[in-house]
Amino acid sequence: MNYSEQFKVAPGSKVRLKDMDPSFKGGHKNNKATAEETEHYQKKLRGLQDLMYAEGKHSLLICLQAMDTGGKDGTINHVLGAMNPQGCRVAEFKQPSAEELAHDFLWRAHRAAPARREVVIFNRSHYEDVLVVRVHNLVTEAIWSRRYDQINAFEKGLVANDTHILKFYLHISKEEQLKRFKERLDDPAKQWKISEADYTERGFWGDYVAAYEEALSRCSTEHAPWFVIPANHKWFRNLAIGRIVVQQLESLQMKYPRPTVDIERIRRQYHAAQRA
Ligand code: ATP
Ligand code: MG
Repeated sequence: MNYSEQFKVAPGSKVRLKDMDPSFKGGHKNNKATAEETEHYQKKLRGLQDLMYAEGKHSLLICLQAMDTGGKDGTINHVLGAMNPQGCRVAEFKQPSAEELAHDFLWRAHRAAPARREVVIFNRSHYEDVLVVRVHNLVTEAIWSRRYDQINAFEKGLVANDTHILKFYLHISKEEQLKRFKERLDDPAKQWKISEADYTERGFWGDYVAAYEEALSRCSTEHAPWFVIPANHKWFRNLAIGRIVVQQLESLQMKYPRPTVDIERIRRQYHAAQRA
């Protein structure tokens, strides 16, 4: 199954999240059935990242968005865990600082965007400015409603400069969120993650769904597509994202650069050194 096609929001289409099954498993039974394949993509990811670093022409930006407990942290761990830390970075988008608020909303995203050869994951992203900001009326509708076009233009500029953008919405159900809240309450190793805000925000679930649907519909473009990933099953989420990122990176047809030195001459020097 081509997950890149299956989960991509077709540019110009209208997303309805309730028509998308967050528990989809792609015909697989459980994580045991896919462990090998998932690992295979992790190895490939590592190789592709190495290639991107060596070639030095491209960069990769992955945006992660989800409801609370949607699995952003787990996804980052999975994707970046496969990579060489040299060349990877995570940028978090929390409540903006006074300095960030004094700039246009894309300023902090642009500053955090990857340099050539880098892989950067946005843990939340500039999309918060049409999500939480819209849900809580932090700016007027006149302001947030203009932002979709501004986001598209911003991303187009990055892509024109060889930053490849993949955006993943981790799609969990409201019931799954409650289950994960319970796990956090019961597991001392997860209790630190609990915040009161998670419960307040859950009360705005419907508003968030509406905000997400508009962002996904208006900002999935050929150059910077959104993918809606079924994320109730963590193992399926990892499989799907691994497969999509690998496929997208392979399509760049990157090549190791030619050596800048005369390899044959260096080989002769090596043999001479060996004899000496
Ligand atoms: P965790 O899963 O660990 O809770 P998190 O991403 O939810 O991670 P928090 O510190 O709990 O991190 O929350 C950050 C909060 O900042 C989120 O509620 C998010 O909506 C909010 N936020 C992000 N960007 C903006 C913004 N531009 N304006 C207002 N709030 C924002
Ligand atoms: Mg949180």
